[in-house]
Amino acid sequence: MAENLLNFDAQQLTAWFAERGEKPFRARQVLRWIHKMGEPDFAAMTDIAASLREKLLAEACVDSPAVMREELSDDGTRKWLLNVGTGNAVETVFIPEAGRGTLCISSQAGCALDCAFCSTGKQGFNRNLSAAEIIGQLWWANRRIGRDADGNWPVSNVVMMGMGEPLLNFDNTVTALRLMLDDHAYGLSRRRVTVSTSGIVPAMDRLRDECPVALAVSLHAPNDELRNVLVPVNQKYPLRQLMSACQRYLERAPRDFITFEYVMLEGVNDSVQQARELIALVRDVPCKFNLIPFNPFPQAPYRRSGAENVRRFRDVLMQADLVTTVRKTRGDDIAAACGQLAGQVQDKTKRTHRLIEVRS
Ligand code: SAH
Ligand code: SF4
Repeated sequence: MAENLLNFDAQQLTAWFAERGEKPFRARQVLRWIHKMGEPDFAAMTDIAASLREKLLAEACVDSPAVMREELSDDGTRKWLLNVGTGNAVETVFIPEAGRGTLCISSQAGCALDCAFCSTGKQGFNRNLSAAEIIGQLWWANRRIGRDADGNWPVSNVVMMGMGEPLLNFDNTVTALRLMLDDHAYGLSRRRVTVSTSGIVPAMDRLRDECPVALAVSLHAPNDELRNVLVPVNQKYPLRQLMSACQRYLERAPRDFITFEYVMLEGVNDSVQQARELIALVRDVPCKFNLIPFNPFPQAPYRRSGAENVRRFRDVLMQADLVTTVRKTRGDDIAAACGQLAGQVQDKTKRTHRLIEVRS
C-alpha cells in the first residue's frame, strides 16, 4: 500500500527517504511542496528529479480525510465533517477573526474520558487519529479556503480543542505539532499553537520535554469533589498534582501562563464562593481564565449559566488580578462550538446512534 506522507514530520520523512537511498534535502523539498505549497501531486513537484517523482508516484501518496459535509455559519465560521473510516467522523472548525484565522482540530474519534458536560465524551471512544488525519485537517483547511491577497495561508493559529483528548494520542499529536512548527511546513510559532488537555499529568510533562506549545487546561471546578464528577479523569490526576504539573510546564512553555478553561454550568460551578475557591487553588500558577458558556446538546444534563452570573464570576476573578475572558460563542447556527462536535457520528456506545450520510 502507498505510504501516506502526511504521516511524517521532517525527521520521519528524512528517515523514509534514507531507506530509499535519497538525501535529506530531497525530503525537505518534498515536505515543502506538500505542506508549504499545499501540493498533493508528486508529478507537479517540478524541481524534483523525474526518477524520484516516479518513485514517489509508485510508492507514496498525500491523503487527508475525505470531507463529508461543509457548513458555513452567518458569522463566517466554517465546519467540516471528515470521514475517518469505519463509520467514524470528526470535525474541524475554522474561526476567522480580524487579523487571524484559528483552526480548531480534532485528535481522536470520540473520547474515553466522558466529561459530564461534553457531547464528544458521550459518544465514547472510537479510535486515535493518525498523524495524517490530524495534520490533514490543517493541510486541507488551508487549501480549501486558499491564500489571501498577500499569499498567506488563512490559518494563523491552531487550537487542539476539537474532538478527543490530544495527550492520550500523544505520538501522533506531537508529529502533527512538529509539522505545524516546522519552517519547511507551516512555520507557526509555538505561541500560536495551543494544546488543550483535561489534565493528563504524565503526558503534560512529556509535552513540556518533547514539544512545548501553548497549553490550555480544562479546569471546570475549584475542588476535587466537584471535578471528580465533571471531569472524571480527576480521580486519577487530582488537582494538587495538576497544579504542580502546570508549574513544571511553565518552566519550558512558550507563554508565561497557563490558560484555564472553565465551562459555566448554572448552579453547578458558577457561584461567587466557588470563584473564591478557584482563586486560592491557582495561587501558585501564573494563569489566565477563559470562561466558556456551556453549549447545550441533546440530553445534556446541564444549563448554561446566565449572563449575570458569568459577569459576577468573572469580576471576582478579575478583582484577584486574574486576567479573565469570556469566550464568544461562534458558529452557533451550525453547532460548531466547544463540546458540540460530531453529533452525527455513528456511536460505538449506541447512545445516540445515527448513521452518516456521505455526500460526494
Ligand atoms: N479533550 C480536551 C480538548 C477538547 S475539548 C479537553 O478537554 O481540554 C475543548 C474544550 O471544550 C474543553 O475545555 C472542554 O472542557 C470544553 N467543552 C466540552 N464540552 C463543552 C460544552 N458542552 N460546552 C462548552 N465547552 C465544552
Ligand atoms: Fe474528552 Fe475533552 Fe470532552 Fe472531556 S471535554 S470528554 S476530555 S473531549
